Amino acid sequence: MTIHQNLIAGEWVGSDAIRNINPSNTNDVVGKYARASVEDTKTAIAAAKAAFPAWSRSGILERHAILRKTADEILARKDELGRLLSREEGKTLAEGIGETVRAGQIFDFFAGETLRLAGEVLPSVRPNIGVEITREPVGVVGIITPWNFPIAIPAWKIAPALCYGNTVVFKPAELVPGCSWAIVDILVRAGLPKGVLNLVIGKGSVVGQTMLDSPDVQAITFTGSTGTGKRVALASVEHNRKYQLEMGGKNPFVVLDDADLAVAVEAAVNSAFFSTGQRCTASSRVIVTEGIHDKFVAAVGERLKSVVVDDALKAGTHIGPVVDESQLRQDTDYIEIGRQEGAKLAFGGELLKRDTPGFYLAPALFTEATNDMRISREEIFGPVAAVIRVKDYEEALAVANDTPFGLSSGIATTSLKHATHFKRNAEAGMVMVNLPTAGVDFHVPFGGRKGSSHGSREQGRYANEFYTTVKTAYTLA
Ligand code: NDP
Repeated sequence: MTIHQNLIAGEWVGSDAIRNINPSNTNDVVGKYARASVEDTKTAIAAAKAAFPAWSRSGILERHAILRKTADEILARKDELGRLLSREEGKTLAEGIGETVRAGQIFDFFAGETLRLAGEVLPSVRPNIGVEITREPVGVVGIITPWNFPIAIPAWKIAPALCYGNTVVFKPAELVPGCSWAIVDILVRAGLPKGVLNLVIGKGSVVGQTMLDSPDVQAITFTGSTGTGKRVALASVEHNRKYQLEMGGKNPFVVLDDADLAVAVEAAVNSAFFSTGQRCTASSRVIVTEGIHDKFVAAVGERLKSVVVDDALKAGTHIGPVVDESQLRQDTDYIEIGRQEGAKLAFGGELLKRDTPGFYLAPALFTEATNDMRISREEIFGPVAAVIRVKDYEEALAVANDTPFGLSSGIATTSLKHATHFKRNAEAGMVMVNLPTAGVDFHVPFGGRKGSSHGSREQGRYANEFYTTVKTAYTLA
């Protein structure tokens, strides 16, 4: 089997390979990928630093063309790349293709943004002086991504970094290197100069840590767990560098007595269980007012009967496997914790056998949960959700906000008054009304509050806050 190598200083290098395993069928090796060392990572950082002066001054048409070509190729190959994504991560094929299309759209969006870079010209408060405010690239950007969105998250960090003239050292999650390798390969063939983008697949504790420890990395954008995010923050403060963190969530989905039952059930099931619950925007706390509680729980149970958990690539599968054995253990441990805490496991939670050996888990729904239980407070990151019964809207809002996290927050209601109040008072970066807590557009800001995020927003035009630095120039007329 060929080894997919790392891209360092414009050369494909490396031989110490890791195997990328399909979670739907652990006998299926998706590919072999080189593992970067500390030295490789240092060389990659030096290459990005050397490439920065020329790339930061490159013409906007050159950047536009490269990003545009990348978008075109990703979109043209959406079925093949979507399949690779489903094979390595376990999302269903429809979800894999959808995520791939989104990655293409993100590159297309930032190709457009290269042509819309703008500044401001203001009069000075002093006579005969002009003031110009411009945005400049930051320098070498370190990109560290998690396993749960193997193509979209790399795309939404790499595309703006390059668009605004930065050079990049990119470390994908070792568990899912396939899509990352593919988009780096596409970018290189689209004409990216040597050293501008470096790919260093490898362990977080080795490759990621070397990036954190380097004074030559001027900014780090990170998506992953809260624990690793804290390490990124501490190291970045030490080096006085810019950093941006997108971390965990414990997103609430509120269902009020006046909700349209069908809308509420569909949104709750999607929020909690689609993509195997492995989305930072997934909802694992379903907060339901008492007038609709029993009807809602029964309807969710009915809906779950038609949900098919199976091989991600099989036609008809709604939910693929859990990503790997250790995540599966975390999910089943939390199911046990929920039982011991006194919540009632109303549906699912059992391991499933399918035609191929994989990490299959029936979506688990607890009822009679309270908001102080560990299953309501800690991120599980799997197809496990808990229903919390509340008296009225006011209690629902208080419970929704009673969490250390603040990424996404949803409500099902037909009341304009409650929807409007919730949009204003939910302590989250994103609010959804009669929609699942997950599922966002690519051209608008993405991010959270409290323990979920740190720094400026990702995606859309707001991305320029992170990937540029502002200069104010004064000129005597
Ligand atoms: P981790 O924090 O374990 O890993 C994220 C990345 O950090 C991986 O590439 C990992 O490398 C790397 N890493 C690990 N240790 C270090 C280190 N010491 N220094 C630098 N980098 C390091 O998260 P997961 O991959 O397990 O992702 C799941 C988490 O991500 C969940 O908590 C989820 O909520 C969060 N997430 C948040 C999103 C958001 O936007 N808010 C979106 C998606 C996920 P490796 O694993 O290869 O060793």
